[in-house]
Amino acid sequence: MDKILVTRSAMPEYEEYIEMIKPLWDSHWLTNMGVYHKELEAKLKEYMDVPQISLMVNGHMALEMAMQALDLPAGGEVITTPFTFISTTHAIIRNKLVPVFCDIKEDDYTIDENKIESLITEKTVAIVPVHVYGNICNVEVINEIAKRYNLKVIYDACHSFGEAYKGVKIGNFGDASVFSFHATKVFNTIEGGAVTFKTEELYERLYNLKNFGIRGEEHIQDVGANAKLNEFSAIMGLCNLRHVDDNIRLRKEKVQQYIQHLDGEEGITIQRFDQPNVVYNYGYFPVRFQNEEIRNKVYIALREQDIYARKYFYPLTADAECFRNKYKKDDLSVARRVSKTILVLPLYPELEPEHIQRICEIVKMHL
Ligand SMILES: *Cc1c(COP(=O)(O)O)cnc(C)c1O
Repeated sequence: MDKILVTRSAMPEYEEYIEMIKPLWDSHWLTNMGVYHKELEAKLKEYMDVPQISLMVNGHMALEMAMQALDLPAGGEVITTPFTFISTTHAIIRNKLVPVFCDIKEDDYTIDENKIESLITEKTVAIVPVHVYGNICNVEVINEIAKRYNLKVIYDACHSFGEAYKGVKIGNFGDASVFSFHATKVFNTIEGGAVTFKTEELYERLYNLKNFGIRGEEHIQDVGANAKLNEFSAIMGLCNLRHVDDNIRLRKEKVQQYIQHLDGEEGITIQRFDQPNVVYNYGYFPVRFQNEEIRNKVYIALREQDIYARKYFYPLTADAECFRNKYKKDDLSVARRVSKTILVLPLYPELEPEHIQRICEIVKMHL
């Protein structure tokens, strides 16, 4: 049997993509905010139901650009979660900001909004929460704290494409939300990403920042970088966007199959996709075991059968060796426990029911 990886990139039919990229051979316009870049921005703005969107070369640069565009002052403290992909923390540090790690909640793995306030100092400039595995942060309380202390909020929404909370699409919360369109995400442009936000002013700023700050041949307005999405990627996005709802529906079916196999089993906690008022995208299927030893045993047992689950997110970003003990950490006991006991099982639209059954059998053997 073939290897089963934790995910499998969504792709359109070969002919669909080839047909779409043909015009590039006439125009020879391959990047620099071409027609497909514009078209994808327009289509995503509609699909994501946001006032403004700026496409980026990837999710990480989208995070960096969003923080730079909001003019967070160097040395400022940013309250964030250690239970995320390393990119979130790197983006903060690469903007010369100081991460202050806050613990998470045991039930949905997002930042514990009740612990944010005690971490605020006169140096605090922003909160960077992460919607984790499609679970949405407590946007109401976070918004209220941010208002009270005059802080910016940038959501890392890389796991949450297409989701909604109380009927509001997920890119509408905070000062900005950041999405990744990496090959492994629910919606992909091969590599790619976006920032969503509210004002035209921020659109102009991000446009400058992602294009070296160049505004006209002789005008350099800003100290920018290069974070532009190319036309081949934009076209991949236009194709994949046509199928993303079908893919989410198929993902949901796979999740339901997993739940059928694992429901009621002792010794395992499964992601329930039951936050009130949330429309999920079914991007990941994480499960938790009673301790690290069992988690690691299951991980290895699956690997021996060519099934590649991921210890995700492990280790905590706060414990990465490149900045271990360099930054203030709150008591991160919940995050640490979750990180040691979690395993993300394979999930993608084409995953076969027999595969899910096999994966669950192996899991259950070790409980
Ligand atoms: C994928 C991801 C990123 C980084 O996005 P890239 O497109 O890979 O640069 C950042 N944060 C989170 C939570 C992610 O899942």
